[in-house]
This record gives sequence, structure tokens and C-alpha cells, in this order.
Amino acid sequence: MRKKIVAGNWKMNKNLQEGIALATELNDILKADKPNCDVVICTPFIHLASVAGIIDQSVIGLGAENCADKASGAYTGEVSAEMVKSTGAGYVILGHSERRAYYGETAEILKEKINLALANGLKVIFCIGEVLEERESGKQNEVVEAQLAGSLFDLTAEQFANIILAYEPVWAIGTGKTATAEQAEEMHAFIRGVIAGKFGAEAAENVSILYGGSCKPSNAKEIFSKENVDGGLIGGAALKAADFKGIIDAWK
Ligand code: PEP
Repeated sequence: MRKKIVAGNWKMNKNLQEGIALATELNDILKADKPNCDVVICTPFIHLASVAGIIDQSVIGLGAENCADKASGAYTGEVSAEMVKSTGAGYVILGHSERRAYYGETAEILKEKINLALANGLKVIFCIGEVLEERESGKQNEVVEAQLAGSLFDLTAEQFANIILAYEPVWAIGTGKTATAEQAEEMHAFIRGVIAGKFGAEAAENVSILYGGSCKPSNAKEIFSKENVDGGLIGGAALKAADFKGIIDAWK
């Protein structure tokens, strides 16, 4: 059975004290009322070590939002996968549309990042998704397939077992405009088919595919009810413990 996952992406929000407060609140809430799914919070780099010291990682996993495409050395301002791992984190988000759009992350760069993340024992939450004009011109499947092929298809099946996919239609991220549960299901089923074609039926059956894009407590249950939707990657609603818990409870 593939894992059900709700992962939060804090993006560039919360200073260290605020981040510690949110992680503490969430940890207390989820220890008192155990989730029916895996829960992960992905925080800014500077929060990782402190948050790792607060949360019970048998209840909440910890991840970074990015890592470098180089192993180490003279790359001022970068944070390597090894450094992320050394904080106690177990996950990293790669390929988020904001990184692709604002920081020029190409399929090739993402390939390097994925290899380094996996080599350092991190699970990768790999984001894919089309922009509005691509959906409006009916190109969403083509775009998503190219994103998968461009960054993941050189992996071995063994490496691929540590990949979690997140379908995030860019037009739904932070816009309040959610894909319908049917649109999500249609794309997730397509993605699973692409994975089956490349890595085989077992890998496709086992990979968790999360939906991301304006997911909130009021729509999570419907979206998660779809056969090929295994949870969510949550931006805005991950910044308040009650909202994030509301989404986690969609699995109850
Ligand atoms: C995200 O950026 O990963 C995301 C899903 O954001 P939001 O939930 O705010 O749309």
C-alpha cells in the first residue's frame, strides 16, 4: 500500500521564533491526536536544526524546500543535500514551480539536485505541473510528462522508490483556485501511467502522488477521496496549525 502523505511547504515565511512556535504547536496537536497519514513539514534551511530538536519524527517528518546542485565547495550562499541531512531532516522538496520560474531551475539542474539528495539519504518530494496557458491549450499532459522524463528517467527503480511526486498545477498555487478533484484525479492517473511505462507497474503502484494548489480543510477530503491522489503538498494552509491539522484530518 502506498503512503498517504500531507506535507507542508512553509516557503519564505516565519522567522525562527515563529517557526519554532508553529512546529511546537503542531507537534503537540499531532501527538495528542495521531494522524492517519505521514505528515512532513518543509521549512526554511535556518529552521531545520531547531525544528528537528522539537518534533517527534515518528509523528512529523522534516524536510527542506531546496538543496544545492553541487556537493560542496565554493558556492557562496548554497546549502548542500549533505548539510540538509545533517540537521536531522529526511526530505527535500525539489522542482517547485517557484524555483523553476524565479531561479531558473532546469530539468538538468534538478537532476543533479535529485541525485545528491538521494545519495545523501533524503526522500525527494518532486514537483511537476503546468502553467495556465499550457492547460488552456490542452498541453498539460505533455508538459508534465516532459518534466518527469527530464529529471527522473535516469534514476534506477531503487532510487525512484525514494521519490514522492507532487502534482501542482501552477495556476492553482497560492491563487485560491483549486483544480477540481476530477482534474487532479485525471492528471494523477496519467502520471501513474507514465511511471508505469518507465519504472514498471509495481513502482507506479507504490509511488505517492500528492496534489498541491490552494488545498485547504474545506476541499481536502474531496480531493483526497480520489483513487490516485495520495495526499497533499500544502503552502498557505500549512502556516496555521489548525488549518494544516484540518487537512491532515481529511484522512480520518
Ligand atoms: C505550494 O506552493 O506548494 C502550494 C501548494 O501552495 P498553496 O497551497 O498556497 O497553493
